[in-house]
Amino acid sequence: MCNEGYTVGGVTHTFESVLDAIGGTPLIRLRRITAGLTTPVYLKAEFLNPGSSVKDRAALGMVLAAERDGSLRPGGVIVEGTSGNTGVGLTLIAAHRGYRAIVVVPDKSSPEKLAALRAYGAEVVVTTSAVPRDDPRHVSQLAARLARETPGGWLADQYDNPANPAAHFDTTGPEIWEQTGGRVTHFVAGIGTGGTVSGTGAYLKKAGGVRIVGADPATSVYGGGDGSPYFVESVGHYLHPQTVEDNWPLSYHRDVLDRIERIGDRESIGTVRALAREEGLLVGGSSGTAVAAALRIARELGPDDLVVVLAPDSGRAYLSKYFDDDWLLRTGFLESPEGPRVADALR
Ligand code: PMP
Repeated sequence: MCNEGYTVGGVTHTFESVLDAIGGTPLIRLRRITAGLTTPVYLKAEFLNPGSSVKDRAALGMVLAAERDGSLRPGGVIVEGTSGNTGVGLTLIAAHRGYRAIVVVPDKSSPEKLAALRAYGAEVVVTTSAVPRDDPRHVSQLAARLARETPGGWLADQYDNPANPAAHFDTTGPEIWEQTGGRVTHFVAGIGTGGTVSGTGAYLKKAGGVRIVGADPATSVYGGGDGSPYFVESVGHYLHPQTVEDNWPLSYHRDVLDRIERIGDRESIGTVRALAREEGLLVGGSSGTAVAAALRIARELGPDDLVVVLAPDSGRAYLSKYFDDDWLLRTGFLESPEGPRVADALR
């Protein structure tokens, strides 16, 4: 056995329901793409949640809070605007607890995500992603209207629901602290609603002054970009800065972050491909963004530091995109169809 990790391996858990299997994900050390670095980098493997993403945690936290405060009643309807993963989390919880689920998704979501939502029994409504937040066709506006107009409707409202960051303060943060034996010095995560980085970050900061780093697509406005579009899904904001400043998500606590690293699509995609081929970890585009940022940070650090980077979801949802050479050619990330190996030039 060569288990040099901080966690206790080999424990077989038995859960009384799928909901109990949410969270408790392993930390996996990155060994090959960290070659030449002295700082250990561990990946928090959130794709191992039952719904295959970190959003199971926020979904469970929000549903339990709504059940407690009475805004979601037995037989009610869970409604949410989401790029997919929150919808999967909410829908699997809805299935388990006997709620209906209506999920509004932007049209840039991958077909695999929509199919997964339907597989769990969600009613999926697709809307345009190219409109500002105050447009009635925008994901969040449309979801809010459907929640109002559906009898028994409850809007999960992940962007502004305090139970979203709280779920990470209560679970993700303590897990990372415990798994590293308090040795973690830097935590890196992408910013979508901001729930993950804010909640986990607030806990780790309080526990031991951990430095909190946001990873953001280069043109996203969180990190000071111009708001022009980018390919990586579920992280950043790509609308006009003015629009976003006016509607900054309440789930995003800017004061928790010590810095934001801006990562371009090419670097994110190159990194996810390297994670699959060199580490055996098939993760999504936003994990590429986060790991690219973590590697930048780790390059500045030494052997006494320890970086934890959160990988929100699995690469299975993006096989027809970042892992597909035809898609890379169509989108201009590759210039010549010289065969699969050419994709390695992305790195
Ligand atoms: N990556 C993926 C794949 C996601 O689904 C999300 C959630 N939208 C994020 C990153 C960002 O997480 P958060 O909303 O907690 O900031």
